[in-house]
Amino acid sequence: MDVSDGELDVLAVFSHPDDAELTVAGTLLKLKALGYRTGVLDVTRGEMGTRGTPQGRAEEAREAARILKLDVRLNLAQPDGHVHVTEEARRALVRVIRTHRPKVILTAHWDDPHPDHAATARLTREAARLASMRRYDEEAGQFSAKMPALAHAVYSRLVAPSFIVDVSDFVEEKMQSIRAHASQFYSPDSDEPLTRISDQSFLGQLENRMRYYGSLIGVAAGEPFYVREALNIEDPVALLTRPMNIYS
Ligand SMILES: [Zn+2]
Repeated sequence: MDVSDGELDVLAVFSHPDDAELTVAGTLLKLKALGYRTGVLDVTRGEMGTRGTPQGRAEEAREAARILKLDVRLNLAQPDGHVHVTEEARRALVRVIRTHRPKVILTAHWDDPHPDHAATARLTREAARLASMRRYDEEAGQFSAKMPALAHAVYSRLVAPSFIVDVSDFVEEKMQSIRAHASQFYSPDSDEPLTRISDQSFLGQLENRMRYYGSLIGVAAGEPFYVREALNIEDPVALLTRPMNIYS
């Protein structure tokens, strides 16, 4: 679904049509409330999913985009279950970055057990860098883009977050955006096969995870991110005197 074009402040790049919702929806809602232009790029249509159809999943993604108030929701149409850092995939993602020119990209972390997620993280890092190189894919006739900053969403306990975003005010809307992907999650009426994420306990666990990361900064709910590059801080006093949890 390509709802519109235009430049973006933040683009979330994730593998499957519900990944951005599960991972960074609170941050996207918060950024929208702060006045930023936000978008999601789904790398695949989720056609390998045990439940739902690509058609149905596209409709669910549109509904979730409405709940998240996204300016843009795009799909890179890479093969689900077979996301790789190919030249074709890099070029397609570079073209999206050059069209929408995000300042920040949120994506998966390369240390993720799902091969599509790990590949999406690597693909995004490479495309972000290539988008800034003038001679790369010159034939497309686009201007190169300033390299966007990259923040990787954290799932593994082995990855220490670089920062946690307080999303306490956005938990309910995040959960709504997830439930918009109705084919994927628990429904008492569904006769589709049970999967890890459609188990009744999954959404509760996801919320508990947000509560846990919130507790690390002394708030009700948080979403954690890892940044590989050193953060350039203008005012360490202002930064370090924000509420936090010394037992984190
Ligand atoms: Zn996924």
